[in-house]
Amino acid sequence: MAAPDPAVSTGLIHHPYRPPDTFEAVAPGVHKASTVLFPNVAAMRSRDWKNKSAYTYGLHGTPTTFMLEERIASLEGGRHCVLTPSGLSAIALVDMACLRAGEEVLIPDNAYGPGKAFAEGELAAWGVAHRYYDPMDPADLAAKIGPATRLVWLEVPGSVTLEYPDLGALVQVVDQANAVRGGDARPVLTALDNTWGAGIAFQPFDFGVDISVQALTKYPSGGADVLMGSVVTRDEALHRLVLLTHMRLGLGVGANDAELVLRGLPSMALRYRAQDATTRELAHWLQAQPRVAQVFHPALPTSPGHVHWVRDASAAACLLSVVFEPSVAPERVDAFCDALRLFRLGYSWAGPISLCVPYDIPAMRRTPWPHAARLVRLAVGLEDVNDLRADLSQALTALS
Ligand SMILES: *Cc1c(COP(=O)(O)O)cnc(C)c1O
Repeated sequence: MAAPDPAVSTGLIHHPYRPPDTFEAVAPGVHKASTVLFPNVAAMRSRDWKNKSAYTYGLHGTPTTFMLEERIASLEGGRHCVLTPSGLSAIALVDMACLRAGEEVLIPDNAYGPGKAFAEGELAAWGVAHRYYDPMDPADLAAKIGPATRLVWLEVPGSVTLEYPDLGALVQVVDQANAVRGGDARPVLTALDNTWGAGIAFQPFDFGVDISVQALTKYPSGGADVLMGSVVTRDEALHRLVLLTHMRLGLGVGANDAELVLRGLPSMALRYRAQDATTRELAHWLQAQPRVAQVFHPALPTSPGHVHWVRDASAAACLLSVVFEPSVAPERVDAFCDALRLFRLGYSWAGPISLCVPYDIPAMRRTPWPHAARLVRLAVGLEDVNDLRADLSQALTALS
């Protein structure tokens, strides 16, 4: 057999055909690249990817990732965005970009757990201290800000327990601390985990935060099939700080994943409102069921911080948490979770399927927890509300 003509392989790679460049479709293109090609050495030397005016390497952006960054920045009312491979890596990126050895980060006691673990693990090992504050008490934050404090995390509402803090008051505490700081001290920055609000329930920069982080894994994707995070800022210098750390860490995202999120964005506001309506209906119904001690959902007047939610937000996400009366044994709470059929056991939220996770709260926090230890967090999907209510109703019989 004759060897293939060498010109065939070369010709297939260096093919002269260029399609017309007038193609326009509803879906943004999926541009995949590690290598980006330059027309000449001068272009290679002069291109600057940092202001999105050009392309140099896949890690520094493609048309697909630039498009997603711009849409997420607009969604949250910011000016700049960088994408990371998960929500957790977005949190870690902010920590690494902002903090130096000898400085300190303050974190709400009810913050997303793996972000606390990063402070307790890597940050502590690198000489960055952390302390937890009670997000429902701005005076506690004021008392904890010290000369070494450089970053204050905020989360609205708290992960799992859903207490809704006074975001404006917490930011004001930081502003006041900065106002009395000496001239060369690095100012205290505020970073909000905005995964719950998602740019729909409220606009984070209206509250004066410096940085807004989201797990795009949740609402923007909406499919329970992709992991991604974002860091949005308004200030150019702060964006540069985050962008350069992002580049040096090599935190790129793949074009196919970016496409999945771009595909989720057009339906995001509708999904948010639909899941909000179902969740609120279930929260009110659950509150009235026997053996339910408390339902946590910011729209319920009995839920901590309800007044802040009424004042500050126009919607609520798809999460609610339930604690049962102390007479319900922890094994019975697990039996309730096992008895659910439509609510499946699994982490994450804001996807199509309703999910359930039992948590032991005292193990997760330092501030006192006045309820039964075991709490059930429900994430409501896109199923019919009557079917979900019937599922909860049949599972509640497993409590006794
Ligand atoms: C899920 C979540 C994260 C982390 O997102 P991943 O993409 O799963 O890493 C961060 N913060 C909050 C509030 C979350 O719910």
